[in-house]
Amino acid sequence: RGASLTDFAEKIGVDPAQLVQMLFGLGEMVTATESVNDETLELLGEELNYVVQVVSPEDEDRELLESFDIELGDEGDESDWTVRPPVVTVMGHVDHGKTKLLDAIRDANVIEGEAGGITQHIGAYQVSTEVEGTERKITFIDTPGHEAFTAMRARGSQSSDLAVLVVAADDGVMPQTIEALNHAKAAGVPIVVAINKIDKPEADPTKIRGQLTEYGVIPEEYGGDTMFVEISAKSRINIEGLLEAVVLTADASLDLQANAVQDAQGIVIEAHLDRGRGPVATILVQRGTLRVGESIVAGPAHGRVRAMIDEYGNEITEATPSRPAMVLGLSAVPGAGQSFLVVEDDRMARQIAEKREARERAALQAKRRVRRTLEDFMASMEKGESQELNLILKGDVSGSVEALEDALAKVDVGGDEVSIRVIDRGVGAITETNVDLAAASDAIIIGFNVRPQGKATELADREGVEIRYYSVIYQAIEEIEAALKGMLKPEY
Ligand code: GDP
Repeated sequence: RGASLTDFAEKIGVDPAQLVQMLFGLGEMVTATESVNDETLELLGEELNYVVQVVSPEDEDRELLESFDIELGDEGDESDWTVRPPVVTVMGHVDHGKTKLLDAIRDANVIEGEAGGITQHIGAYQVSTEVEGTERKITFIDTPGHEAFTAMRARGSQSSDLAVLVVAADDGVMPQTIEALNHAKAAGVPIVVAINKIDKPEADPTKIRGQLTEYGVIPEEYGGDTMFVEISAKSRINIEGLLEAVVLTADASLDLQANAVQDAQGIVIEAHLDRGRGPVATILVQRGTLRVGESIVAGPAHGRVRAMIDEYGNEITEATPSRPAMVLGLSAVPGAGQSFLVVEDDRMARQIAEKREARERAALQAKRRVRRTLEDFMASMEKGESQELNLILKGDVSGSVEALEDALAKVDVGGDEVSIRVIDRGVGAITETNVDLAAASDAIIIGFNVRPQGKATELADREGVEIRYYSVIYQAIEEIEAALKGMLKPEY
């Protein structure tokens, strides 16, 4: 579509005059306010040697889907919305009974004869419970711990509406209890506290209430708004009470509705390669209804839904909002937390999947490059060597170098163990002298709106010196910060 040079310059954080000058050098006379075509913009990008990613992967994917006239997260007409069951994650400290609880909930339901089958682990299951005379459904994500929860959040998808925080009554609030609590808070999901193992003689549920109150989780009976339920996952005590608390909490703090009539969209809960059946993915429908025979894309995988299997091993023909189902028929194994959606036909599904795959490959390569350097640092740190990240800053104008250095000085590395040291700074292109110094002192060169000169790149490749190019200060800071955090020793 093209853009004016001024707009483009602003986007990539350079002086528009520099672009005018560059185009002049390439034989094109353009003023800063004039629009230029995409090809010219690409040419400028190449000239500036940017590898900086301006668009976030999410935005990029949204754009990709938009080019097919698909809007991820589209909820359709509000008049079509109906109530959907809450999706729940079970979190808590190790050994506090998350797995036992998930088993107890699942088994309780089967005994009631809901489907009369033996449940299989597909990554999520749905149960029903009677609350105030009404039959209500709840979907549980069947992977205990917060790894899955966090992995999905990292991918930008909210997998759960509510969290059950399990705390063992004989043990009390532990580090992972707090971690889980923080994850739930960060995701903005309400919690229900399950005080587990009350069958044990040393159980002290009052202590748990007091401890959590200190962390701002205040029980209803103390005037707060969090429901605490005393249970035993092992002795199967009060499981129904917990389910009821989940439903009541969802009713009180969430307005869970979805459009069941549109094309299905949702997320992948887990996936694997099955010897006989090929790629198998458990998906969670978030909106719409998924039907056998439809064409879908799930992350970089595509295909037609050959069959759907529920948590009882039964084949089902459709899945409505909040329903988990194992899907057969995909071309590849998608990742947990990736989105899936129904598209018009197989051809469109394949086209989207291919574009995504190409992009994932490129992103992986870029990550690998960063990781190698990071690993070098970690390795040398383990040997007790470098706890300092040495940097050489080069910028187009002295103002930008100063700004970068100032911002770096403010980077919070989260401890005193590691630090940033700027060993050299300067204005102008990156030279062989810069690379030599970097090689001698194990430094990384940060180029801000500048390019390497002469044989600097060759030398850097040979010496294994990393040169990173940026045109936006916060991006430089963000990446350096991330690298430093990676250098920190994990705390136990
Ligand atoms: P997770 O690490 O949180 O998934 O914990 P598990 O579900 O694996 O449980 C850890 C241990 O606690 C196991 O030995 C369970 O049998 C035991 N456990 C779990 N729930 C209860 C309970 O309600 N009462 C008693 N006495 N033991 C329990």
